[in-house]
Amino acid sequence: MTEASTQYIGRFAPSPTGPLHFGSLVAAVASFLDARAVGGQWLVRIEDVDSTRCKPELAQEILATLQAFGLVWNGDILVQTQRTSRYQQALDRLATLQLTYACSCSRREIADSSLLGIDGPVYRGVCRDKKLDTAGNAIRLRVAPAEICFDDRVQGRQCQQLERDIGDFVLKRRDGLFAYQLAVVIDDGDQNITHVVRGADLLDSTARQIYLQQALALPEPRYLHIPVITNSAGQKLSKQTLAPAISANDACALLRDALRCLGQAVPDDGFITPTAMLASAASTWKVEAIPRGRAATGRHTAGMDES
Ligand code: GLU
Repeated sequence: MTEASTQYIGRFAPSPTGPLHFGSLVAAVASFLDARAVGGQWLVRIEDVDSTRCKPELAQEILATLQAFGLVWNGDILVQTQRTSRYQQALDRLATLQLTYACSCSRREIADSSLLGIDGPVYRGVCRDKKLDTAGNAIRLRVAPAEICFDDRVQGRQCQQLERDIGDFVLKRRDGLFAYQLAVVIDDGDQNITHVVRGADLLDSTARQIYLQQALALPEPRYLHIPVITNSAGQKLSKQTLAPAISANDACALLRDALRCLGQAVPDDGFITPTAMLASAASTWKVEAIPRGRAATGRHTAGMDES
């Protein structure tokens, strides 16, 4: 093992709400190559914490697709739905630190009484001091008026003042499900993730995650957010925008397209296996070449062919 490999642990964390599409392939390729370029580890985690939106059979399909594309992970797969007691433990710790409170406000009440922030209505802490019962209510994190900043490796310096821009955010929903923001922080911490590479749709979540890391005394990974791939109508590829599932039959062509979207040198046609292509791409991987910005259209790529 090289020295770098002991220092770099990356991850890809798909939510099994739909099959892998071209946008998720680009994120998987970016996180894989960033890890492999320095001899690091690349872990895969199934983010099914919102079990109402996930289908267990899709997780197996996603893993099979990753393998067919040569995206082979290290170690065991972490599955969020198997970790709820761990999330509860973290929530209990935050409660002990007096950083959480129960909230009975409905979405409607919040929307009607709040200013719009970076990621929806800013919750101003109406229930902060009500000391409501935790049962049947959402649990929120009390945020501080301090500014949280980090240096994204592609998008540059990012700062948010959580109280002004986001408000006290939910860690456990009223229906008992843990929120993504809590689960992702605990998982990144438990998996000793040193580098997070993911789509820029999560850029605005990062300050919340850093705030939680600070509250729980967890180390802060380095962050790199790649532009989200959009269709010709400018919409993020997703199940909702009917992004087509990627097929392993087109693996090499789709990998070339993914590399193009990431501004990387594209291996020539001589590379006929995904594994060989990814090994070549890892050896020429350049973070500086990744386009800056939150979105990039994938219009000219085979991965975007919606026919
Ligand atoms: N599960 C998220 C998604 O599929 C990714 C979360 C993350 O990388 O932090 O978009």
